[in-house]
Amino acid sequence: MAKKTLANLNATDLVGKRVLVRVDFNVPQNDTGAITDDTRIRAALPTIKYVTDAGGKAILVSHLGRPKGITEKLRLNPIATRLSELLGTTVIKTDDSIGEAVATAINDAPNGSVILLENIRFYPEEEQNDREFANKLASLADLYVNDAFGTAHRAHASTEGVAEFLHPSVAGFLLDKELQYLSGAIDTPKRPLVAIVGGSKVSSKIGVIDALLEKVDKLIIGGGMIFTFYKARGLAVGKSLVEEDKLELAKSLEAKAKERGVQLLLPTDVVVADNFKPDANAQTVSIENIPDGWMGLDIGSDSIKLFQDALADSKTVIWNGPMGVFEFDKFAVGTEAIARTLAEITETGAITIIGGGDSVAAVEKVGVADKMSHISTGGGASLELLEGKVLPGIAALDEA
Ligand code: AMP
Repeated sequence: MAKKTLANLNATDLVGKRVLVRVDFNVPQNDTGAITDDTRIRAALPTIKYVTDAGGKAILVSHLGRPKGITEKLRLNPIATRLSELLGTTVIKTDDSIGEAVATAINDAPNGSVILLENIRFYPEEEQNDREFANKLASLADLYVNDAFGTAHRAHASTEGVAEFLHPSVAGFLLDKELQYLSGAIDTPKRPLVAIVGGSKVSSKIGVIDALLEKVDKLIIGGGMIFTFYKARGLAVGKSLVEEDKLELAKSLEAKAKERGVQLLLPTDVVVADNFKPDANAQTVSIENIPDGWMGLDIGSDSIKLFQDALADSKTVIWNGPMGVFEFDKFAVGTEAIARTLAEITETGAITIIGGGDSVAAVEKVGVADKMSHISTGGGASLELLEGKVLPGIAALDEA
C-alpha cells in the first residue's frame, strides 16, 4: 500500500496552491484551556513548513475533543496561538471551517500563509463523512495532504471523504513516518521481532494479539489481561481483573502461539494489592500463590528479569500497553523497567516502536521518550495498523 507522499510532489506543484492539510491537533488542555502537551502540534511542523516554504498556502483542518455542535471551549484559538509561537509567524484562524468567509480569508492570504480552520467536528457532517460537506471542504483547496495519523482509522469527511474531490491527495511527513515504522516493523522486520502487549483487558487487544502471533518471534504479555490467561490455566487469581467470557479465547491464543512456534511470555510473579488504591498494601507473589481477596496490579521482579532477558537479543520491538497500574507509583515499577530496557536496547541498535496511549505516557514519565526509535502519535490507529486493517484515511490517498 505504497501511497504518494508530500516528498513525491515537486516544489513547483505547491507554488501559489491552496493545500488542505488534515492535522491532528487534538491536544490535551487544562480547565483554563491552556495546552498541557503540544507534541501533536510540533509533530505537524515539518509538513506545514514544507508547504509554506514552497510558496503554498497551508490550510489546516483538525478536530478537538468531542463537541456536539459549536462549543466555545473547543474552538481552536489557543492552538492557533501556540502554532504561531512555534512557527514564528502569525497563523490566520477562521471562525468557521467551510463557507464563503473562509474561502475569502484563504484567497486574501499571501502565499506562504498558514490558515487554521475552526474545529471541524462542530459539524456533525464531519463524522458522518457527508459527501456534500466533504465537497464543500475540498472546494477551499487545490490539493490534499493527510498528516493526521491519529485519526487515519476513521472514515470522516476531512480524513477520507475529501480525498475523493482533491488530487493529488498525499501523505504528509508524519503520516509517512508512522507508516514506515509501523508497517515496516510488521512487514519487513529485523528479527527477532518482539511485541509487548499490556493494558487492562484482553478483549480490547484480541485483534492485535491474534495478528501479531502471525508475525512475531516472541510475544510478551503484561497488564490486567494476564489474569484471564491464568484463570484459563486453572490458577486462582484473587480479586484481579478477569474477563470470564474470554477464558476460552485466552486458551486458544496460547494454543496458536504454540502452533506457530511463537514464544509467549507471561509474568511468573506479580505484585498484588489489598485494594485498588495508590497506597494499598502490596506484596510480590508467584502466580501460583495469589492470595484470596488480593488483586494483581503489577508484574513482579522475576518477571521483569524474564522480560529483559527476552528483549536482550531482539532487533525490533513493538510495545503497546502498560505492564501494570502505572498511574499509581507503587505499581509502575514493571512498566518503567520495560521503558528503561527499551531505551537501552535502542542504544545498541534495536528498533523500538511505542504504539501510542499509555505506553507513551510511561516512556515520557521515565524520561526516555527521545531514546526510542519511534513514538506513534496514534494509539487506536497504530493498533489497527498492526492488526493488518486498512485505515480509511490512508486508503483514500493517491497511489505512489
Ligand atoms: P488499555 O487502555 O487497555 O491499554 O489499558 C490501560 C490501563 O490498564 C491503564 O490505565 C492501567 O492502569 C490498566 N492496567 C494495567 N495493569 C492492570 C492490572 N493489573 N489491573 C487493572 N488494571 C490494569
